[in-house]
Amino acid sequence: MLIVDKERCTGCGVCEANCAFGAIEVVDGIAVVGDACTLCGACVESCEFDALTIEGAEKSVQMDLESWSGIWVYCEFRGGNLATVALELLGVGRTLADARGVKLVAVLIGSETGDSAEKLIGHGADIVYRADDPALHYFTDEAYGAILTELIRKKKPEVVLAGATAIGRSFFPGVANALGAGLTADCTQLAIRAGDGALLQTRPAFGGNIMATIECPGSRPQMSTVRPNVMKQLEFDPSRSGEIIDIDLAPAMLKSKVRVLESVVSDSDDVNIQESDILVGGGRGLDTEKGFTLIRELARSLDGSVSASRAVVDAGWIGYPHQVGQTGKTVAPKLYIACGISGAIQHVAGMQSSETIVAINRDENAPIFNVADFGIVGDLFEVLPKLISKIEEHRKS
Ligand SMILES: Cc1cc2nc3c(=O)[nH]c(=O)nc-3n(C[C@H](O)[C@H](O)[C@H](O)COP(=O)(O)OP(=O)(O)OC[C@H]3O[C@@H](n4cnc5c(N)ncnc54)[C@H](O)[C@@H]3O)c2cc1C
Repeated sequence: MLIVDKERCTGCGVCEANCAFGAIEVVDGIAVVGDACTLCGACVESCEFDALTIEGAEKSVQMDLESWSGIWVYCEFRGGNLATVALELLGVGRTLADARGVKLVAVLIGSETGDSAEKLIGHGADIVYRADDPALHYFTDEAYGAILTELIRKKKPEVVLAGATAIGRSFFPGVANALGAGLTADCTQLAIRAGDGALLQTRPAFGGNIMATIECPGSRPQMSTVRPNVMKQLEFDPSRSGEIIDIDLAPAMLKSKVRVLESVVSDSDDVNIQESDILVGGGRGLDTEKGFTLIRELARSLDGSVSASRAVVDAGWIGYPHQVGQTGKTVAPKLYIACGISGAIQHVAGMQSSETIVAINRDENAPIFNVADFGIVGDLFEVLPKLISKIEEHRKS
């Protein structure tokens, strides 16, 4: 609860101006806290009269931050393979570890992991902690969470990263909660501050309208999930050497209330737009669901896949697995063709790393042109058929 010390409050209004939630109002010369308060603490920091305190916050235990050391990456292994995001995280993890002068550690959990541990070393890890057991064949929050939590408690790393995938998003918050650590979800950029080793975790905030950099100054480990396709993986270096440590798995750690009877890949999940080199994206400019016929045709002529903006997913014109953006997937294909997509910040957040962006829009002021390498101002129903026939002609010649 946010407490206002009436003796100290001067009614200056600085707290009111600093509250992003409109939760403080100065009434009759005193700050009054409303229901919208999220206890973010921005007003407490802004008050030069020390008139504001968050009840309970002062009771937090001081941690010995120096005793936490090392950069860790949870390396997701599913369907018999390492997830690409695991290698991307080792790329950024290497930079962070070198900046801190500490080891980069990969945590590998699964069954029949084969030479994955060696691969992780080739991609930048110094040490791999491996939990390989038939009981870990299917992911469960409880078993995977228990193993990672126990390891972190024993080894005390300063930073732990995971991919913002269905699995990372599912069990990482539970691990953070068990450790009493903070967790910044869906980061798009990570850096480390020299000196105090604060992890600077940048992610979109307030509906994607600003990029916020978040720190956890007083506690360890610092935990983040990072979106796939945002960080760059390092080239595999077969000459790298490292240590592989098999974890002793106590039977209690492998227990789960969940029993997986069967794993079925649904048809709609079969679309993996994150792995396609060419994406043709459709937006509300398609007018109706039928507009996707043209998008599919263009994608087929280029051997690409179909992606979409959230507006058309929400409209039910295409399934969620196709959605690109802040609340969809992050993609980085060689070619992204945006058709009838305005270029809202939340969409651009998911596709701006594409190598070449082509935008087709009838509004020359559409923001998508700000990120496009090539822009075509025109009606997509005229432009796309011409484009498709030119590509077909070119392919036949
Ligand atoms: C918290 C939050 C998260 C969000 N997450 C996402 C996300 O993950 N992904 C996402 O995409 N959006 C997301 N959004 C929604 C986003 O803000 C936009 O509303 C959405 O991207 C708009 O989709 P659009 O570009 O298809 O539609 P519009 O913005 O309506 O744009 C349609 C465009 O088509 C053009 N057009 C119309 N007719 C034609 C034609 N015949 N030929 C050529 N051009 C034509 C128009 O000029 C216009 O630029 C999110 C929003 C919020 C608040």
